[in-house]
Parts: sequence; structure tokens; C-alpha cells
Amino acid sequence: MTIILFIYGTCIGSWLTAMADRYATNTSPFYPASHCDTCQTPLAHWQLVPVCSYLLLRGRCHYCHASIPATTFIMEVTVGLLLTTLHPTTSTRLIWLGLWGFAALCDARTQTFPGWISYATLPLVLWGHTPLVVLLTLTVALSIRVLWPHWRHPLLGDGDLEMMLSYLLLWGMTATARWVLLASTLALLQRSAPRRIAFLPYLVISAVCWWLLPEV
Ligand SMILES: [Zn+2]
Repeated sequence: MTIILFIYGTCIGSWLTAMADRYATNTSPFYPASHCDTCQTPLAHWQLVPVCSYLLLRGRCHYCHASIPATTFIMEVTVGLLLTTLHPTTSTRLIWLGLWGFAALCDARTQTFPGWISYATLPLVLWGHTPLVVLLTLTVALSIRVLWPHWRHPLLGDGDLEMMLSYLLLWGMTATARWVLLASTLALLQRSAPRRIAFLPYLVISAVCWWLLPEV
């Protein structure tokens, strides 16, 4: 069962990466069929097998030998590993993490992400909370959406704040503090940090680390 879940996970990881590529290049999620981003040659079936194809091709396009981003391979393996932890009690959180993982991939490429992700993840985190918590969360989320674009030089993106808000609801204050601490440390370790960095990828890497690492 673990192996089947891992295989499913690698497929989802591969699909999320492809969808993020389509978002970044502003192309349709459906057309054209999977192709090399450099030479545009459509990929054969054997070049579309998650994890295996990347290893067989040694991270390069079969036709033009352009390197395939390692993110593809890392994403396939990571989502594969995450899905092995699937359990009725973790399914909602896994969907939440998958959606934010997709947002992080988009953020890494374009420093933006599809706005619907914030809305789609809210019901997942609010499920089971009291009406007061739901009302407070919706007020904060709406405030972020309305007020943030008016702040000229925000220290954080609105997406980062929205992900933090939902992490807080899912895992509580202490877990959120250590999660943000790890994400910030990873971001600071970046060697040539530009003035503006995409922070969602670090938040997601940190969330995956805390998910997969045994409790300390
Ligand atoms: Zn190529």
C-alpha cells in the first residue's frame, strides 16, 4: 500500500509541477501536450514517467539535452513521500499542503500565485472550528485581501500571511512559531538573496520538513 501511495504521490507531484509551469508561462493547462520547454519537442510516453524518466534522462532533455529543473524530480519524490503518510486524519491537511505546494511553485517562478488557492484552503482549515473562530478568521483573511495591496512596501506578501493564518489554525501557536523560524532560516541561507524573495517556497519546504520529520 505504501508503494502504491508513493507512486500516486509522484504522479500528483509531476502534475502539480507541470501545472505550475503552465501558470508561469501563461499557457493552457490542457494544450499543448507535455513538451520540452527549450526545444518544444513533445515528450514520448517513456519520458513522462515520474521519477524514473528524470533518472533515465539524467536530468536532461532527450532531444536538445537542455537540463530539466531538479524541482521536477524533488517535487515528485516529496509528494510521493507525503502521500505515504495518507490517513483519514491527515487527508485534509495533505490537500492543504498540496495546494500551497502548487502556490509555492508558482511563487518561485513569478512571485505570484493563483488567488483562488487562499479561498480553497480556507474551508479545509476552518472545518470543525467554532463559529467565532470562523468569523474571526474570515475577517482577518478579508482584511489581508483588502488592505495589503494598499501597503507600498509590505515586508511579507499577502499569500505568505494567508498561509501563516491557515497553518496557525491547523497546528496552533507553538508549531507555527517553529515552522516560520525554520522557513526564515532557510530563506536567510540563500547565498545571493535578491531584494525581493518568494517566501512561499520556504514556508512549504519548512511545512514538509515538520510533516515528515519525527516529532522533536
Ligand atoms: Zn529539449
